[in-house]
Amino acid sequence: MPSKSERRKLRGFRRTAKATRMITKGKKHKKLRCANCNAVLHGVAHGANRSRMAKISKTQRRPTGMMSGILCNTCKRIIITEVAKVDAGIKKMSDTDISIRNYMKQIEKQVK
Ligand SMILES: [Zn+2]
Repeated sequence: MPSKSERRKLRGFRRTAKATRMITKGKKHKKLRCANCNAVLHGVAHGANRSRMAKISKTQRRPTGMMSGILCNTCKRIIITEVAKVDAGIKKMSDTDISIRNYMKQIEKQVK
């Protein structure tokens, strides 16, 4: 009987001269999702195995923008406008949505 760790792994078959042997494969990378609204992120590498992900360059793995690979464009736009409102003095930090406050602080750090 296969061990508990072997039961979870993806399996495949490889034909050799003597017999058809069972082999285990590594996990695939899942599609990344937005940390705020759980939408699928675009421009992020997925599907390939771990060694392939290590070989490709950093810019091929995710887009190089503010909070890219973490937040989707809609959430990013909302949060940046909230940061600008707080910066201009229209809104207080305590009036903003508590779920986005951490991302607002991160964007403030990147801008300054
Ligand atoms: Zn989002």
